[in-house]
Parts: sequence; structure tokens; C-alpha cells
Amino acid sequence: MIKEKLYIFDTTLRDGAQTQGVDFSIDDKEKISAALDSLGVDYIEGGWPGANPTDTEFFNKKHDFKNSKLVAFGMTKKTGHSAENDPMLSSLLNSKSSSICLFGKSWDFHVDIALGITNEQNLENISDSAKHIIKSSKEFMFDAEHFFDGYKSNSKYALSCIKAAFNEGARWIILCDTNGGTLPDEISEIVKEVTKHIPGKNLGIHAHNDTENAVANTLAAVSAGVRQVQGTINGLGERCGNANLMSLIPTFFLKKDFASKFEMGVKN
Ligand SMILES: [Zn+2]
Repeated sequence: MIKEKLYIFDTTLRDGAQTQGVDFSIDDKEKISAALDSLGVDYIEGGWPGANPTDTEFFNKKHDFKNSKLVAFGMTKKTGHSAENDPMLSSLLNSKSSSICLFGKSWDFHVDIALGITNEQNLENISDSAKHIIKSSKEFMFDAEHFFDGYKSNSKYALSCIKAAFNEGARWIILCDTNGGTLPDEISEIVKEVTKHIPGKNLGIHAHNDTENAVANTLAAVSAGVRQVQGTINGLGERCGNANLMSLIPTFFLKKDFASKFEMGVKN
């Protein structure tokens, strides 16, 4: 049986850096990213170039990773100017990253309350940002923030947000359980519905651990079809942390349901 590739995306240096008491220096970032590369993770999210001096310096350096692609993180363009004139997108494009991951809203409630823009303007911000990044030939991923809560409240709109990025050519659409409040059966049900619109080989899962279900939710999402797994070393992350890659990776190696179906860049 030919095994499918399961992609591992490490966000220790970005989401993990939100952990209370954690403050990575440039030297820490160099050492951790080198270790992640030798482990064989597919993607290393190094931070947000332009957001602070450490991340900017880290992304100004050339990294010769053997196994991993370096990912720069940021947000979709703001309403009121074009993607071409968005300074934040420019700093991501100018960084020495091979991939760019932009987060954006997929819950209509947040589009209204947090951004104060229309649903259509939000869709335009997503598709214009996607188009602009993809034109640059960097690999593009879209982090759909609060996707599961958004889907439960307005599934049609949540789906239109991820399709706005996918239809422009996004390599990955990441379904985020940003508050960590979704349970495994709901994750499974919603991911199965999403795969009717976007193939699982283009979907990722980003789970927070507020109900202690981040690992369970990630496994449920993989079983339901996603092929990229996001997490951090030892589950570092803000509040209760992110999905713990140190639990997930051994599970993918040792448990037959996963080991018989998938191979990873990480080798044992
Ligand atoms: Zn997160």
C-alpha cells in the first residue's frame, strides 16, 4: 500500500513564543530551528517579520535548512488599501522565507465586531492577499482563524472565506480551533464536510488545548482527511498551549491506524 504524506508544521517559534515566560532570543531561534530541521519537520514557522526586531533579524538571515521550509507569519491585508500597498505584506514578501502563512477571519461575528467591515470586504481582503503572495511564487497558506466556531455559526460564510484563499491557489488551508473549545466528534464532522469543498491534501489543522483536546482534535482531523498537522514542541503556546507535536509524532509512528497509512518527513 502506498502511504500518503502527512506534513508536520512546527509553530514553536511563533505560537509557542506566546507562552507566558517564554522570550526567544535570536540565538534561541537559530538553535531551535536547526534542531527542528534535523528532526525533519516540513515547515518551521519562524515568527512575524516586521512585528519585532528579533523576528525581523531572524528572517533577514539566510537559513540553509536541509529538510524544512521556513514560513513567515502575518495577517491578510487591511481594508482601505491594495495588497500591493500593504507594508506588512511587503515585509513578509521581502523576508528570506519560502512560504507565507496569513491568518484571516472566517467567523462573520468577528468580521463585524472585531474588524468592523462587511463580509464581502473580508472576502476581498483574503482573495487579494492570496493573489498577491502567489504571484510572488512563494508558497501560500491561509490560517482560517476561529474556523470551527465560525462554521458552527454560519457554515456558508466560513466556507466562502476558505474558498476565497483556495480558489486563488493557496497550497494549504489551515482550519484553526483558535479558542480550543471544539470537541473531537465536532472536529471530525466539520472536517468531513469541508473535504467536500476542498481536498484533504490541501487542509491542515491548528488546535489549541483549552479543553485539553488539542492532540485528540488533531488526530480526529487527520482521520477525517487533513494532511497537515500544526503544533509546538511540548505543546507550548498561549493560555493552555497548542497541540503537542511530542505526543503527535510518536502516535503517527506507533499507532497502526496512522502508521499504516502515512509517512512523514520526520524519520525514526
Ligand atoms: Zn494558534
